[in-house]
Amino acid sequence: MTSNENISWETIACPVCESESFTHLFKKNTEPFVKCDKCSLILINPRPNYEKIKETYGNDYSRDYAKKATTKLKRSLRRVRLIKNRYVSTGRWLDIGCSAGFVVRSAIDSGFDAFGIDIEPWGINYGKTNLQLNNIVAGIIEDQSYPDQYFDVISLYDVIEHVPDLNLLVNELKRILAAKGVIHIITPDIGHRRVTKPLSDWKEIKPSEHLYYFNKTTLNKLFNKHGLNIVKTDFAFKTSLKAYIQHI
Ligand SMILES: [Zn+2]
Repeated sequence: MTSNENISWETIACPVCESESFTHLFKKNTEPFVKCDKCSLILINPRPNYEKIKETYGNDYSRDYAKKATTKLKRSLRRVRLIKNRYVSTGRWLDIGCSAGFVVRSAIDSGFDAFGIDIEPWGINYGKTNLQLNNIVAGIIEDQSYPDQYFDVISLYDVIEHVPDLNLLVNELKRILAAKGVIHIITPDIGHRRVTKPLSDWKEIKPSEHLYYFNKTTLNKLFNKHGLNIVKTDFAFKTSLKAYIQHI
């Protein structure tokens, strides 16, 4: 970990309800975890500035990921089938935070025209070389200028809890999602009954890395602001929230 001595801190309003009133819960690695007094979202606030947060995305993140390639590919295929059987059987798929591109590979193999994006170049290079993927890019979604209503499926697996500007992202998701399209999100579920107590011991509590801790209610409020709505959640044995989101 980098020393916290010389970093700057950013205080944000609640990204879900815009409140600026928070109750302190605990500190971990000097970072304060707080609860929004209005909507109950739990987040790190103030938080290290974005440059610091980007440091947590070392290449190790994707290198570890690539090592478990077979397992990841199987899991990706299961996730693609969930969408294919229930919502959309063909069309354009965008995987945000695609890492090496296993979801993109699985979606292509399942008949989708699939694309991926990730802020970290190492995984993208791995996917191009080892998974024969051409439609994956290193960057952020807001810079891609995708056409309106372009994607039938947009997936964000273990991604939304990392994103510095949530409202910018969700606004863009709303714009690029097809009229009958679906967004599939998996993120840690702070409302899950198996979350460790005390909360500071929960394995998903990750300073600089997991910036927000949603439950179904707070996640839905965030998407409702932008004209989107959770239409279904899947049962999760582990402490994950698995949500399907469509236009209201
Ligand atoms: Zn709030």
